[in-house]
Formats: sequence, structure tokens, C-alpha cells
Amino acid sequence: MSAISIHLRHCARTFANGTTALHPLDLDINAGETLVLLGPSGCGKTTTLRLISGLETPDAGGQIRFGEEDVTRLPIEKRDVGMVFQNYALFPNMNVADNVAYGLKIKRLPAQEIRRRVEEMLAMMHLDAYADRAIHELSGGQKQRVALARAMAVRPRVLLFDEPLAALDAKLRDRLRIDIGQLLRQLGTTAIYVTHDQAEAMALGDRIAVMEQGRIAQIGSPREIYHHPANAFVANFIGTVNRLEPTGVAGSARLAVAGGWIPVPPERRADHFYCRPEDIRVCATPDAPISGKVVDSFFLGQSQRLLVDTGAEQLLQVDSPARQPWQRGDRVGLEIPPEALFTLPEPGKHQGG
Ligand code: ATP
Repeated sequence: MSAISIHLRHCARTFANGTTALHPLDLDINAGETLVLLGPSGCGKTTTLRLISGLETPDAGGQIRFGEEDVTRLPIEKRDVGMVFQNYALFPNMNVADNVAYGLKIKRLPAQEIRRRVEEMLAMMHLDAYADRAIHELSGGQKQRVALARAMAVRPRVLLFDEPLAALDAKLRDRLRIDIGQLLRQLGTTAIYVTHDQAEAMALGDRIAVMEQGRIAQIGSPREIYHHPANAFVANFIGTVNRLEPTGVAGSARLAVAGGWIPVPPERRADHFYCRPEDIRVCATPDAPISGKVVDSFFLGQSQRLLVDTGAEQLLQVDSPARQPWQRGDRVGLEIPPEALFTLPEPGKHQGG
């Protein structure tokens, strides 16, 4: 079965109470890709997903196509979409295998084919040993695996996920998002995945659409979004950024910043710059371009995040290798390489530089 593309044209949604969940939106999802809708609570992710599923209809003028087919007025049961929610919505009176087989029986597939697909899905979701278990005998993570297996078993044209891992603990989430990613790649089904978790978005999305207040702020591959954020909202939503405001010139190719300097050739001058914590180098030498005092440090396992007071208005967030045990009160030198600096348009302001 070949995957289909999805096209939203001018899809807006204002509810009866006057809340505009979506401003007119154009969105093209490629056949077979996983598109993640990422953004803070209330930005319109779920509404977009519900429009695609058929649970919601766009306001007048909006159109939704699956490939060439106009599905705008098609009810959910005719769209051939599979959905997985945060709450598992499993049938409590059926065992695991029967839950997974449910949609296949509705589709009247031959018994042998049903058995084959249920076994395949249970194996992919590492549930082989649980086929005969009752739903109430499963953990939260196992229930969500059953829900995933059930949605994917019928091989719908489109798979829709609405925060499916939000109720699970961190360890399980990490594990399941890898399993879902592998499964989606194997199945090759077009998928839309809603989350407010940036790590989940980056791990699962072929592309990510970052949403803000009913609009798409940026759409692109995880790398594009991380390394080339379109604006400060996106930069802050995915990862962390430091904002640097030069206070003057400190030599022909230096700008004074954070009590020290950063190397910036004259043609790249701007009234502000951004840089990511992991791109700042930390050293013990007092004659580094910038020096400061560690006011706090957070051990993160693979690295540590330092908050450094350089005398500037804002503390700098800096990541250093976890094996350099910087502590509160330590004096450190900082170096910000020019390639780590980027500028972003200011909301409502002309871009500096
Ligand atoms: P969350 O992550 O919290 O689920 P979301 O990004 O999925 O948020 P939506 O559920 O799409 O956001 O909601 C967008 C906006 O529309 C919110 O302000 C919400 O309160 C509002 N909204 C959603 N559904 C309705 C409804 N049926 N009636 C009125 N307002 C609604």
C-alpha cells in the first residue's frame, strides 16, 4: 500500500465561544513522512489533528485533501485514519490480542490474516508474551503499546497521535518513542504526531511544525529548526538560547559583551546575538575572552549546565562536559566562537545587523 500525502488549505477554526484555535493555515504533509506538531498548551495542535481526523470541520473556506481526494466533509469513519491518544481507550473486556484484532475483524479480514497481523504487531510492540492478558493486568506502558498495536494493525491511510506518551514516566517515554519511530519507519504510513515535548519531536519527526497561538511559527527538519530557528519563540521552545547584547566595540573585530568580548567581524555586527549553551567553551584560564563566576550548576548526566554571572544583565547558560566538575563559586573563562552566533528577527521590530 502506498502512502498518501495530506494537504490543508486555508484551514481556520474559531469556536462558538469566540476562541480562535487556528488562524487560516496551509500545511502539506508528504506521503510517508512523520510530521510532528509541537508547541505550548493551547497553540492549536489538537485542533489541527482533529481537522485531519474528521472529528472537527474547518471554518468556511477551508479544505483538506488526502492525496487528490477532498475529505473536508468526510466523517471520521470514512477517512481511514488510526488514532492513538494519551488515554488508551482500550476495550477492558477483551484481552490484548482481541484488542489488537478488533479493527481487523471489523474490516472482515480472513481469520488467518488477522492472526498473522496480530502476531506481527504484538512482536513489533514487544508484547508477544502478553497476548492473553486482560487489560487491567497491564502497566500503563503496556497498555499504550496495545493501543499503538491496535491502531497500526489495520494499516490506516494516516496515523494520528495525540500526546500518546504524556501519561508515562520518563524512562518509558524514551523507550516507547524509539519503538514508535522504528515502527513508523517500517510501516511507511503518513503520520501526524502531536506533542509539547521537544525531545520527542526531534526524535520522531521527519519534520516538525512549531506552532504558536494558532499559527505555524516554523516548519522544517529537526536539524533545521534547531540550528536555524526562524525566531526567538522557536529558538526558546526547542532547546535553550542565550541572548547577547553587545555594549560597544572592543577592537576592530570584537564586540564588547558580557563583561568581555566576542569575535565578530564588522560586516556581521548586530544589536543582538543568540548562542546555544553547548556552543560556549568553558576553561579555567582567567585570560579567556569572557570571565565569570558559576552561580549554579546542574548535573545532567552527559553534561552539566552552568549558570554563569559575567556581570551582564542576564546569567549565561553554558554546557560543559560532565567530567569537568565546576562548582558554585568557581571562576571560569568562556569563549564564544563566531560560528556559534546567530541573529533572529525581533517580534514587531526590524531585524538588526
Ligand atoms: P494542549 O497541548 O493543551 O492540548 P493544543 O495546542 O492541543 O493544547 P487545542 O486543543 O488545539 O490546543 O486548543 C486551541 C485553543 O482552542 C485553546 O485556547 C482551547 O482552549 C480552544 N478550544 C479547543 N477546543 C475548543 C472547543 N471545543 N470550544 C472552545 N474552545 C476550544
